[in-house]
Amino acid sequence: MTAESKPIDIPAIRRDFPLLSREVNGRQLVYLDNGATSQKPQTVIDAIADYYSRYNANIHRGVHALSQEASQVYEEARATVQKHLGAGNVNEIIFTRGTTESINLVAATYGRMHVQAGDEVLITAMEHHSNIVPWQMLCEEKNAKLVVVPVNDAGELRTDEFGKLLSAKTKIVALTQVSNTLGTVNPVKALIAQAHAKNIPVLVDGAQAVPHMAVDVRDIDADFYAFSGHKTFGPTGIGVLYVRESILETLPPYQGGGGIIKTVTFEKTEYADAPLKFEAGTPNIEGAIGLAKALDYINAIGLDNIHAYENQLLEYATAKLSAIAGLRIIGTAKEKAAVISFVIEGIHPFDIGMALDAQGIAVRTGHHCTQPLMDRFSIPGTVRASFAFYNTKEEVDLLAAGLTKAVKILA
Ligand code: PLP
Repeated sequence: MTAESKPIDIPAIRRDFPLLSREVNGRQLVYLDNGATSQKPQTVIDAIADYYSRYNANIHRGVHALSQEASQVYEEARATVQKHLGAGNVNEIIFTRGTTESINLVAATYGRMHVQAGDEVLITAMEHHSNIVPWQMLCEEKNAKLVVVPVNDAGELRTDEFGKLLSAKTKIVALTQVSNTLGTVNPVKALIAQAHAKNIPVLVDGAQAVPHMAVDVRDIDADFYAFSGHKTFGPTGIGVLYVRESILETLPPYQGGGGIIKTVTFEKTEYADAPLKFEAGTPNIEGAIGLAKALDYINAIGLDNIHAYENQLLEYATAKLSAIAGLRIIGTAKEKAAVISFVIEGIHPFDIGMALDAQGIAVRTGHHCTQPLMDRFSIPGTVRASFAFYNTKEEVDLLAAGLTKAVKILA
């Protein structure tokens, strides 16, 4: 706990998440796969049901009452996201399907405009595939080069190398704020300042940051910032892309279709202004509404309180798991979010995952969509326990006991 943070009422919070009370394989569920997706509070579930029960209609097109109502709530959701990210203008918030689509949007618009043959796109060795593959595709298309900032043995970004790899050829930097596999928290504000000193814009993948810590896009000075609703206690199929206004005005549409136009003739289409210009077709209306509720929910608890509590959990779990013979934690950065990836000598991660599942404990096993990072550590995959604010020390104890049992059976 820091001086500013307050303890949070975990039993009350857990009651808000109906799924947490279910059983799996005859045991009370212990859900430790929050990095993959988070559970949803009742307010989010209710908001979605309320939309479909009371004011389901398409948005921005109808003059009738339901359409007006749905459009208003959808746009209020955008304003909630704007406030949550500290964006200066609500038009800077684009709704997408998720982090993956947000990154693809930037690669396909800004990337295609600015990256040419011989140029470079700078990413890091700890990126999720969704922050690698779109850039790789762009580089292949343009005959440009994907350059990768390495990580050290603790899983920290080599910030010394970052500075050296920023060059006149670098047209954009794309990096994660928090690694989904290692938990490493990158010093994005300082890195962005370094890139900006060379006039290079930066995209931040905030998929694993927004659910766990306060983010202010203006404070860190990000040019693009992406995150997913479903990892942030909201619905699947909704995500966000923040784009700095001065860049937004220069971007072409990402996809063509209805909703993004002012006028269409067979000769020419005049596009709507941002953000609608980037939201072709009927958007995920229920998703935006649910996401706004999820953000309201975490703001009511307070992200500083969440962050402080999750740090305690991380410390407790790190000590507990480190005491298990043969267990090695992959990712021991000084600045870490509540994610613990590990391997156990002589046992395949998949077998550990299955043995834990039999005990009602849900963890992730495999490469976590970071195959190049697995290669960096010369391992095929890890077991990953990723925590949220509704997890408890008792659940960490169950995980440790479950692992000890698994090791006895499998070793
Ligand atoms: N970036 C990071 C760091 C992630 O952890 C993930 C998902 O695990 C993604 C991007 C992709 O998110 P989504 O599948 O919601 O688009």
